Amino acid sequence: MKFGGSSVANAERIKRVAQRVVEKKLEGHSVAVVVSAMGDTTDDLIELARQVSKNPPDRELDMLLSTGEQVSIALLAMAVNEFGHPVVSLTGPQVGITTDDIHTKARIIKVEGDRLNDVLNQGKIAIVAGFQGRSLNDDITTLGRGGSDASAVALAAALKADVCEIYTDVDGVYTADPRLVSDARKLNYIGYDEMLELASLGALVLQPRSVEMAKQFGVTIHVRSSFNNNPGTLVEEVDKMEKVRVVSGVAHDLKVAKMSLLDVPDRPGIAAILFNSLADEKINVDMIIQSTTRGNNANDISFTIEKDDLDQAVKVVERVSQELGAGGFIYGSDIAKVSIVGAGMITNPGVAANMFSALAAEGINIEMISTSEIKVSCIIQAEDTKKAVMALHKAFNLEVE
Ligand code: ADP
Ligand code: ASP
Ligand code: MG
Repeated sequence: MKFGGSSVANAERIKRVAQRVVEKKLEGHSVAVVVSAMGDTTDDLIELARQVSKNPPDRELDMLLSTGEQVSIALLAMAVNEFGHPVVSLTGPQVGITTDDIHTKARIIKVEGDRLNDVLNQGKIAIVAGFQGRSLNDDITTLGRGGSDASAVALAAALKADVCEIYTDVDGVYTADPRLVSDARKLNYIGYDEMLELASLGALVLQPRSVEMAKQFGVTIHVRSSFNNNPGTLVEEVDKMEKVRVVSGVAHDLKVAKMSLLDVPDRPGIAAILFNSLADEKINVDMIIQSTTRGNNANDISFTIEKDDLDQAVKVVERVSQELGAGGFIYGSDIAKVSIVGAGMITNPGVAANMFSALAAEGINIEMISTSEIKVSCIIQAEDTKKAVMALHKAFNLEVE
């Protein structure tokens, strides 16, 4: 059972979670619980770090951010103890969550389940801190925003758990963010591949890495509400024989920024230099568009990155622009990415065209497009996001089953 930040936001909610956990245990299950930091704690800690330093070292940021989850495990263990049930809180390192050493976005490479198994075999409820691990150099690491989902799936895999229940503040995975689209519909099930696309394209409800691991280890995820007992959404391997939906959901992402390198000389090796320089700084590039060459033997290269990487990317592109003798560069971050996702797209022509028509009908300008077998994404102005998501939800009839 994994409980997100809003589910443990205050003492009252922590007590409710404790009750729910104890009830599950009394039903006869062995229960390992993963918790996130309370409410907006992680955001607040990041803000605090910024007040001390404009560019805090990632190692120290991890040392700071990992404290949020430690507060939650201690409090939840105390609340469970109040029910008279044996319980023990454990940090990520204590349960053997081992990661690489990429601070602030570390990946889990191994989980030693022994200690956790011992605790569970003694009949105790285990309360584990999400989002954190220990690198091979023995440093505390964190798993990227939303990383408690990854902790939960990794532990479920190591324990060979029947199910990994992700308790959150909505009833499951919806056809679009229910905060944006009021008639978004809860999906009863979704396959790993579609879920991975939705998560990667901005649907906050599960961290992409957690879905990747669930697929790899065959962990069934049940996304459900911590505020009611409604059945949620099962994320699992979908039987290939079942009828696949053309479009399953719409996702949006406001954390994107766009850059263009202008009037770049048209010769081999230019793209390699630009994107290697960005990769050297661990900046992930998403969409890339290169315009056709004009009369002056030059073209423009535009690409998108994560908004958080923009400052760093500006420095890189400034240097590369001079190195290559380009005409300069421009950038902006008041953009959004809207995407449609569906496994049935590949066999149905015209899906992308429908998407463009729906956006055009709302007068929304498309700045960039990218496609894969199961998704189409468009970059638009950020202010058009809600209008775009609602129009796409309607265009593909997602409110009806
Ligand atoms: P937690 O703190 O429990 O980890 P998150 O805030 O990380 O919760 O994720 C839950 C949020 O994800 C919801 O409140 C919802 O606004 C957002 N969300 C975005 N897209 C979707 C979607 N397709 N289905 C469900 N929730 C979504
Ligand atoms: N507390 C961390 C975050 O806010 C991890 C999580 O909530 O999953 O990103
Ligand atoms: Mg989350």
